[in-house]
Order: sequence, then C-alpha cells, then structure tokens
Amino acid sequence: MRVVLATHNPHKVREFQQIVALTRPDLEVIGYDGPEPVEDGVTFAENALIKARAAAAHTGLAAFADDSGICVDVLGGSPGIFSAYWAGQKKDASANLELLLDQLADIAEPHRGAQFVSTIALVTPDGAERTVEGVWPGRLATAPAGENGFGYDPIFIPDGQLAGAERTSAEFSDAEKQSQSHRARAFTAFVPLLQTL
Ligand code: IMP
Repeated sequence: MRVVLATHNPHKVREFQQIVALTRPDLEVIGYDGPEPVEDGVTFAENALIKARAAAAHTGLAAFADDSGICVDVLGGSPGIFSAYWAGQKKDASANLELLLDQLADIAEPHRGAQFVSTIALVTPDGAERTVEGVWPGRLATAPAGENGFGYDPIFIPDGQLAGAERTSAEFSDAEKQSQSHRARAFTAFVPLLQTL
C-alpha cells in the first residue's frame, strides 16, 4: 500500500520513510510533486491538514503532512506558524534567530520558556482526518551556540539537562536530537495512526 507525504522536501521524505519502515514495512511512503496549497491556516494542525488534504485529493491516496515551529511563552506562542518567516518572507534562518534574540534581549532566564511543536496530519481517501502533536519543551539561550540542526536550534536549550552542562539542540548529535525532538514525539504519536490504514 502506498501513502503520500505531502512535502517537496526530500529530507523529510527520507526521515518519514525510515520511521514508517520500522513499524509498517508494507507501507510505501512516496513524495508529492503536485500543486502546493496556500497554507492559510492559523494553527500547525490546520496547516498540516491543508497540505495533507491537497495531496490526498490530487493523488487519490492516503496522505500525511507535518507542520512545525517554535513557540515562545513571553511572546504568547509566537513565532508559532510564522517561524519560517519571522524576520520577513525570505526564509532566512539566521535573521529569524537574531530577531528572536533581540526581542527577548531584556527577558531574564526564568521567563525565557519556549517549545518546539510538530503536528502531523493524516487524511485518508474516505475523507477521515486525524492529527497528532509532539512538543519539545525548553527555553531560549541568550546567544547562539552549536553547528548541528537548523533553524532555531542554536538558541533552543531543551529541558531535562544537567544544570551547568546544558547545551542547545544545535550542540546535540543528530541521533540525540532525533531521539527526543518534537518531531520524534509526533512520530511516536503518529505510529498508531498508521495502524488505521
Ligand atoms: P516547517 O515545518 O518545515 O515549515 O518548519 C517551520 C520552521 O520552524 C522552520 O523553518 C524552522 O524555523 C522552525 N523549526 C521547525 N523544527 C525545527 C527544528 O527542529 N529545529 C529548529 N527550527 C525548527
């Protein structure tokens, strides 16, 4: 059986293929090269559903999609769905990160709480729609550190680390990040949805 991953990003296709292979080796995850819908939802779930619906309608197959971002407590959950464009329409990751640091320049550590969020939506040909969410709690650093990962990783300090030896998620190895990230948590919640196919 084939399922479509509604993304043009080959990196995401590979990541999902690996995760699906672990639990449902009979499912073939294929990429999507059809029209991309306007993501005009106001939540991660709505945007993930918009992408999954478009791919399901275009291919006639079950389709899933993910949407993610960083949510900062003192900013009321922003950048949220605007994470990729926070400093403008250019999708400039370092400008996004610098702007966020500037905005929080005067905010002391106890108030720098933030979380990465990932939502995965699944839409089946019978019209059924489901979403699951993964959350990775932490706080924002005051300066970037680390070279791994992407986006806001250099300024995100995940919770649960030894005091005094805390690192940003850009200082985590790939394996370390993949074992506990928001996407990993969403994947875990997504596995039972695969059983419904
Ligand atoms: P998208 O879901 O690929 O559209 O990602 C939205 C945006 O959220 C990315 O461009 C990043 O700015 C941010 N983001 C999502 N996940 C991560 C992550 O694991 N590390 C760093 N930034 C992330």
